[in-house]
Amino acid sequence: MIQLEQATRVYRLGDERIQALDSVDLTIDDGDFVAVMGPSGSGKTTMANVVGGLDRLDSGRVVVNGRDLHTYNDSELSRYRNQYVGFVFQNFNLHTSQSALSNVMLPLLFSKVKPRERARRGKEVLERLGLGDRLQHRPSQLSGGQRQRVAIARAIINKPEVVIADEPTGNLDSKRGVEIMDLFTELNGEGMTIVVITHDADVAAYAKRTIHIHDGQVVTA
Ligand code: ADP
Ligand code: MG
Repeated sequence: MIQLEQATRVYRLGDERIQALDSVDLTIDDGDFVAVMGPSGSGKTTMANVVGGLDRLDSGRVVVNGRDLHTYNDSELSRYRNQYVGFVFQNFNLHTSQSALSNVMLPLLFSKVKPRERARRGKEVLERLGLGDRLQHRPSQLSGGQRQRVAIARAIINKPEVVIADEPTGNLDSKRGVEIMDLFTELNGEGMTIVVITHDADVAAYAKRTIHIHDGQVVTA
């Protein structure tokens, strides 16, 4: 379970203060499937980054299974990011010079998994996502939907408790978007907690519940 308690994140640019998250209270239960909706600039990516342990709050707390993320030391925080959470970035964040398989295996480099086992698991996940015939393709040699699936494969290879996806269908046509959401539904059915950030009400409809965020504040929970 992940709880945000009065979560506040302020960006300072010169004299300007931007309240990207403003006293957000939110509970994400184990097995939850939550959509986070809101207009551009409302704080969705900031929220995703905070929950994923990629950014810190200015005040308030992120509490994971009862423990404040702020109290994690560096190695605990790395483990949280690498094992507990799988993150799918808005722009995929794939390594352009590396194959699909190398990209997907990357999170395993930080665990004790042996090279042969890394490759086996990487292949297995890519096959599951319908990319078994694209293992050696580089991102530039893949379509947008295929790149997105590589990014998802990388996010789930460590079997995280929680997958956070920041506008995973934003760059896809609706058919590819449906495939991605079907996949998240399947992963949720297997017990994974899913947090999907989206602009799109059709995408949000796949979730068990939707949170709306506006100017850094949750408007309905
Ligand atoms: P969303 O994902 O909903 O579009 P973001 O979380 O990216 O919104 O941004 C929320 C607000 O914080 C926006 O006003 C944005 O301009 C601002 N912001 C985001 N990142 C930074 C940053 N690194 N520095 C300064 N302002 C930022
Ligand atoms: Mg965003």
